[in-house]
Amino acid sequence: MLAKTGVPAREQLELIQPPAGHQGPVAVIECFQEIPCNPCSEACTRGAIAPFTDINNPPVLIRENCNGCGNCMFRCPGLAIFVVDETYSDTETLVKIPYEYLPLPQENTEVIALDREGKAVGPARVLKVQQAKAMDRTALIWLAVPKELGMTVRNIKVER
Ligand code: SF4
Ligand code: SF4
Repeated sequence: MLAKTGVPAREQLELIQPPAGHQGPVAVIECFQEIPCNPCSEACTRGAIAPFTDINNPPVLIRENCNGCGNCMFRCPGLAIFVVDETYSDTETLVKIPYEYLPLPQENTEVIALDREGKAVGPARVLKVQQAKAMDRTALIWLAVPKELGMTVRNIKVER
């Protein structure tokens, strides 16, 4: 499925989703193909992405070292890393997505949440738009989404 559509299969996603009951924000690395790439590992100063023994290998997250900071997200050329916090609140999950489109969303507004295939799946509240010179043109958008959509929402539509 991934090679044809660019969308990972359910079995692949099950391997990388945070375990039930995980407390706090944590990276979800949706990178499954063998490609010569490793800036995510170099970006993580907490040793939460294992050093690559072969640059073609997919990244390996050491979840207990990850605090969900997002530093690896804007270094990933494939925009394949997200951060999910299923304990954000009783009703909402925090999802951080990398975003390179314009216009950027405005903080404290509502946008349309999209799944991996670009299908609208519900509303999302924009909590924060994180930008910095070091992040080049990749912003990190912090979203609060309905509780059950943490492993579904991977993009947004911003109304102009
Ligand atoms: S979110 Fe932060 S701590 Fe987690 S893997 Fe990425 S850079 Fe490392
Ligand atoms: S930087 Fe992104 S595309 Fe490259 S190996 Fe890491 S997760 Fe995969």
